[in-house]
Amino acid sequence: MDKLNVKKIKTDFPILKQKVNGEQLVYLDSAATSQMPVSVEEKIKNFTEINRANVHRGVHTLGLRATNLYEESRQKVADFIGASSAEEVIFTSGCTDSLNLVAASFGEQNIQAGDEIVVSIMEHHSNLLPWQQLAKKKKAQLNFIEISKDGRLDLNDLKNKISSKTKLVALTHVSNVLGTINPIKEAIALAHEKDAVVLVDGAQAVGHFPVNVTNLGADFYAFSGHKMFAPTGIGILYGKKELLDKMPPYRFGGEMIANVTREGATWAETPQKFEAGTPNISAAIGLAAAIDYLNSIDLKLIQKHETELTAYALEKLSNISDSTIYGPKESYERTGVISFNLKNIHPHDLATALDLNGIEVRAGHHCAQPLMESLQTESTVRASLSIYNSKDDIDKLVSSLQEAKEFFSEFR
Ligand code: PMP
Repeated sequence: MDKLNVKKIKTDFPILKQKVNGEQLVYLDSAATSQMPVSVEEKIKNFTEINRANVHRGVHTLGLRATNLYEESRQKVADFIGASSAEEVIFTSGCTDSLNLVAASFGEQNIQAGDEIVVSIMEHHSNLLPWQQLAKKKKAQLNFIEISKDGRLDLNDLKNKISSKTKLVALTHVSNVLGTINPIKEAIALAHEKDAVVLVDGAQAVGHFPVNVTNLGADFYAFSGHKMFAPTGIGILYGKKELLDKMPPYRFGGEMIANVTREGATWAETPQKFEAGTPNISAAIGLAAAIDYLNSIDLKLIQKHETELTAYALEKLSNISDSTIYGPKESYERTGVISFNLKNIHPHDLATALDLNGIEVRAGHHCAQPLMESLQTESTVRASLSIYNSKDDIDKLVSSLQEAKEFFSEFR
């Protein structure tokens, strides 16, 4: 297999050219938001300058062009994630919105008092709070699958936690803190044995390795565009058509109806019944351009690059004395989301020191406070890798960490 040409890829992302605090920018926060290549910007610019109009409304030429582009984007997403048809792809404003859609529609309809919902302890708050709220409202039980010491999902615990009362299992594909790639296919098969429906949070998975929702057997699969080189404000909810067809809409307004009278309304077919109001058309078109960009590089090559770089980073970071790295030690079981701490230095202080050297990382609880509690820490530093990162970036990170360590040791 070929190698990624990182030097060339970097030139696709003009933002990376700049200096920050007088130093060459090293962007290591792609798990929060990835950068956007020129090709995506150009596609959006082209739409704005030539084809901009609302979708699914006018019969005029621009309206038809905009509608075609928007629906072509839907088809592109369906092909990219292996959905059986574009009708299974709903445009949302992001992963959080997709997860809330399932809670507000499927959850409201199907979860009753005494039912059980199962999540893992490594969920992002976006895939926890909708279920916590729903469980409270419906008097249902929320159960947590625990993780092993090295941050892997405990499949035995999953088997114990899923029962005939379980209506829904909501599980992340990849942890946004530990980088763990969960055995989602096995988890789905186990849940299906008990007739539970499975929602996968794919925010940290899509764009990093090939994802095929049909092959996985997922009932629902949610993700965000901005973590895979597309604009902010666009996300996807994939759902099996037979499930979506039975679900009620949860937001009401224009373009989601079949017919409206004074007394009531009937709904459009899926996916339109879930897309009330004017959607984020240009961002949907940008998402299609991001998929073209990913396909032009090849996801298998991206995965190989990120796995190799993760192995390199894990080794270098573990060589720093007094470092704690969270999550699996083997790079093939995880992605390039690397959380760590240096003894006696607060993560925010470290992130600030790194920023002074032009290195952008995230510090905090990463919207995963129950996980932090189980890791017995309040926060971590998180460096997250993408296709535009190289070993040089890791070397700069490590030498800056060493520098920061020396600096802070003077205050002890
Ligand atoms: N789930 C996971 C695993 C995430 O990492 C994130 C973003 N940090 C989300 C959900 C929420 O994504 P968004 O903020 O784009 O809705």
